Amino acid sequence: MDIRNVIIIGSGPAGWTAAIYAARADLKPLIFEGNEPGGQLMTTTDVENFPGFVNGVMGPELMGVMRDQAKRFQTEIISAHVTSVDFSQQPLKVTVGEKDYFAKSVIISTGATARRLGLESEKQLYGKGVSACATCDGFFFKGKKVIIVGGGDSAMEEAMFLTRFAEVTIVHRRDAFRASKIMQERVMANPKITIIWNSAVDEILGVDVGHVTGVRLKDTVTGETREMAIDGVFASIGHEPNVSLFKDVLDLDEKGYLKTVPGTSKTNIPGVFAAGDVQDSHYRQAITAAGSGCMAALDAEKYLAGL
Ligand code: NAP
Repeated sequence: MDIRNVIIIGSGPAGWTAAIYAARADLKPLIFEGNEPGGQLMTTTDVENFPGFVNGVMGPELMGVMRDQAKRFQTEIISAHVTSVDFSQQPLKVTVGEKDYFAKSVIISTGATARRLGLESEKQLYGKGVSACATCDGFFFKGKKVIIVGGGDSAMEEAMFLTRFAEVTIVHRRDAFRASKIMQERVMANPKITIIWNSAVDEILGVDVGHVTGVRLKDTVTGETREMAIDGVFASIGHEPNVSLFKDVLDLDEKGYLKTVPGTSKTNIPGVFAAGDVQDSHYRQAITAAGSGCMAALDAEKYLAGL
């Protein structure tokens, strides 16, 4: 049986940073990139707040250089999605389809996934005017009218990006944005963006014709509804942690994120560590994810030294 020192599951900033640190500690890490290699930053444009890049960096470029850096120190990279884990005994088992991999320690950095509105019409019109990725799909809305649902930094960022192509309206369920002040100010100052406060998308219209033709908005204060003609709907309403592999295996916190011992990356199972957005419902930044990836690698190194 080939038993590795450390297996890393997930390849966002947390996973790659864990790989770089583990590889430099000569632990010869194996990383599974997963279904969405690079994670959320692959669908982001300018990252302006990652230290070290005076003029900002494009999300995919940042992930590309992190990957190259991990590779430079002989991280073994497998472009596959882990299908199950068994942490009930040592060595820890990580399975991809029919193939089992074994390790003394595992770092989980599976990140989080964009939340959906949860409407049946959203499902039916997905890819037909409904999108969760402005960067990927914005171009298809050249000269059209779109709405962005949400009031966080992502919604602000995506709204500004989409003004390159489309007429943009932000629909937010409250009367104040959650986004950081600087992002809010940019949106408010942008003449190409209209804001509709206190409104939720009640229904996406166009299922009968096979593409989005509008939305029915519900006033969250009065309950009144009205229809609005638009061509595209972008939901930018936060994320859910990717914990499906670990639900009955590891402790979760009250928000459904992997629970770690405060100030560490330790989960409730010895040798299993968690880093990045899968265990962080609060900060959720690329830099904090990277920092926690570093913590996980150092915690794993210490754990292995004590075996
Ligand atoms: P977020 O901060 O959690 O914001 C989600 C937004 O969606 C909130 O305004 C929320 O409304 C709304 N929302 C949630 N569920 C909804 C529903 N079912 N229907 C309608 N609206 C709903 O998520 P995020 O914007 O994705 O940001 C996540 C993290 O990444 C944050 O820490 C953010 O600062 C960071 N981020 C930073 C940058 C940057 O600095 N450049 C860019 C993107 C993201 P309520 O406000 O009413 O709860």
